[in-house]
Amino acid sequence: MVTATFRFYAELNDFLPPARRTREFASPCARAATTKHMIEALGVPHTEVDLVLVNGASAGFDRLLDDGDRVAVYPKFEAFDITPLLRVREKPLRDTRFVADAHLGGLAHLLRMAGFDTLYDNHYHDDEIERLAHQEGRIVLTRDRDLLKRRSVTHGCYVRALHTEAQFREVFERLDLARSARPFTHCLSCNGRLRPIAKADVEAGLPPRVRERYERFTTCDGCHRVFWEGTHWQRMRRVLDGVMAGFSGSGGGEADD
Ligand SMILES: [Zn+2]
Repeated sequence: MVTATFRFYAELNDFLPPARRTREFASPCARAATTKHMIEALGVPHTEVDLVLVNGASAGFDRLLDDGDRVAVYPKFEAFDITPLLRVREKPLRDTRFVADAHLGGLAHLLRMAGFDTLYDNHYHDDEIERLAHQEGRIVLTRDRDLLKRRSVTHGCYVRALHTEAQFREVFERLDLARSARPFTHCLSCNGRLRPIAKADVEAGLPPRVRERYERFTTCDGCHRVFWEGTHWQRMRRVLDGVMAGFSGSGGGEADD
């Protein structure tokens, strides 16, 4: 029987029962268990983990555990540089794209508004989300830790907050999104690309009040809807500005590069 000692750091403790939080504890391991097997068996989705040390040396998810091993498990670091150490995931995803689970529609809309390609449908099953994440290189957003434990989900974000704006702020901070935000480039309805369109091209279909008041329009290549900067747009803009303002040095949310 192999018994290893585990210690989880920072917010990873949220996944543990109270008696195991912020302290070392021993756990029996299955035969030929890897660090990944054990971390997930103890309740922590591997997507939440950024660094694993075994006996003080960085280790991958495939490291087999031996009797007496001491395993330290860390989330994404905010404050100190760990570049000399091996992170368990060597390749970050090149483009930041998401697939949100069926409970995160509000978050999905805010991410689209901020310019991130985000798939969402309240009929998605877990299998579909896993497939989309794997095939299209998308980060899974969910409050379901079992979904993040699936084998082919390599990049995911367990969303802790319950309310939409707080969720948006959390994901923005954790994934450091401010620099790559491109507000109002994706359709809130279908995630298609938005492009400016001349008023003359859409005028005929507009309600009279909109035709009188607005001059700037965009259209979606996916669903062909036409958008203008009405009260809904303004409200969303305030939400977005409020979140982005919290990230100093981010360029204030403007596309600055
Ligand atoms: Zn659309």
